[in-house]
Amino acid sequence: MNTTQNEKVRCLIIGSGPAGYTAAIYASRANLSPVLYEGIQPGGQLTTTTEVENFPGYPEGVTGTELMEDLRKQAARFGADIRVGIATETDLSAAPYKVTIDGEKVIETETLIISTGATAKYLGLPDEQKYAGMGVSACATCDGFFYRKKVVAVVGGGDTACEEALYLSSLAKQVYLIVRKPYLRASKVMQERVLNTPNITVLFEHNTIGLFGEDGVEGAHLVKRMGEPDEEKVDIAIDGFFLAIGHTPNSKIFKPWVETDEVGYIKTVPGTPKTRVPGVFAAGDVADPHYRQAITAAGSGCAAAIEAERYLSEIGK
Ligand code: NDP
Repeated sequence: MNTTQNEKVRCLIIGSGPAGYTAAIYASRANLSPVLYEGIQPGGQLTTTTEVENFPGYPEGVTGTELMEDLRKQAARFGADIRVGIATETDLSAAPYKVTIDGEKVIETETLIISTGATAKYLGLPDEQKYAGMGVSACATCDGFFYRKKVVAVVGGGDTACEEALYLSSLAKQVYLIVRKPYLRASKVMQERVLNTPNITVLFEHNTIGLFGEDGVEGAHLVKRMGEPDEEKVDIAIDGFFLAIGHTPNSKIFKPWVETDEVGYIKTVPGTPKTRVPGVFAAGDVADPHYRQAITAAGSGCAAAIEAERYLSEIGK
């Protein structure tokens, strides 16, 4: 890395979801003069959802885009330096830590808050794009409410899919769980709950090959026992199609330095945003395989900024 023209900052935040912006609000108010890079998807995952009704403080709900714009403005109001750019490389071997932006500019920072989020996996069908925001979702907790008394399908056989199916079963009239294998990968307790819920139908050995509908999702084209001699095409009528086939945490460029679990989620000291690198913190979905909510991400962003402030005062910077 070229170190001749490096910019030096006290607090660098990577990512612009609820975790990153909340960290920026707290870090600005603590006079850390934070610099925040927005990353690949400014505003994060919430900008891909429609209405957000579970973020406290919005009794009438708010769109994901408006919520993120409000958080951004709030961070800017206290002086956070919000920039367009993507972190492409890191060197966290020793402080000050070096982060390369867009493959060119190198920022040296005393503290780093990683809030790069996680990206929901999709099947890769063109119809997922076609019906984005029109019946296709990767977050039942965010969008399930719009399917009260309707028929929905969840794809996946892991704990997330079971959890999403159970959540939706309390709202929707009927839930299909589309599982590609002849068994569920989820924990036994989750499997039992799903199998004992009357309005959940598990479609084992089914793959989705497309969606159909005029102005939104009206159904899915499935194939039972795909590739086998007795393969069979099946269409189901649904109003909503939920993906729950896992998330990919955006932790790749930090992996050589911080500890991650087998999926790639950054491991932190339990109950804190501290990574194993002093002064480097992880907040939001990149470090959270369990809750993945806007409000929990915001809370951990707050905690990361408070820890960054404490760390700087401990090292006298
Ligand atoms: P998992 O990786 O555990 O499961 C993903 C599921 O999606 C699998 O059933 C997999 O099928 C299926 N899948 C993947 N790709 C495709 C595809 N292209 N087409 C069809 N199906 C596909 O992810 P989860 O998000 O469920 O869980 C991640 C981790 O978080 C796990 O360790 C889980 O235990 C944990 N978790 C725990 C919870 C809890 O304890 N309450 C709640 C949620 C998550 P296949 O089995 O065939 O590979």
